[in-house]
Amino acid sequence: MDFSTFEPGSDELLIREELAGLIDEHLTEEVRRRVERTGSRWDEPLALALGERGWILAERSPEEGGAGLPGLQAEMIDCELERAEAPLMALGLTRLVLPAVERFADPGGDSALYAASATNPRVFPCGTCGWPNRLTQADVAAGYQCDACATAMERGTDVNYYEPEGDPEEVEHE
Ligand SMILES: [Zn+2]
Repeated sequence: MDFSTFEPGSDELLIREELAGLIDEHLTEEVRRRVERTGSRWDEPLALALGERGWILAERSPEEGGAGLPGLQAEMIDCELERAEAPLMALGLTRLVLPAVERFADPGGDSALYAASATNPRVFPCGTCGWPNRLTQADVAAGYQCDACATAMERGTDVNYYEPEGDPEEVEHE
């Protein structure tokens, strides 16, 4: 095992700078007070901002929702978040459960499992319900449908049961 001191190179410094910006932007006094007050160590906007960059599972390829970073850089991101005491408690669970979900999950047989990423955005409509911006290219290639449709199929309910109200064209999807 190599215990030598880590000297960040230009790639690492860039990541560290962008991450510091995210931390400054999201971990405001207000967020920290809320975490303290509620005990809920979770800040969704920060988690989403990390996810957009593929930094939640940074070592994975962009096709898998990661950023294709070397292990050292992925570890550095985690260390910086930990040092900043970022309220991201649920990420540990995500990482723990994901391999089992990928291996065994079969909700209705064709649910979307791939996270959207910069290179594989969720811009395709679901083939079942037709709602826009539901699936990634990888989902479409695998013949997946959206989670709401898979859930509806599993429960034997109407696919539109879980949809927010309003015109599909006008509703912003997550
Ligand atoms: Zn659908």
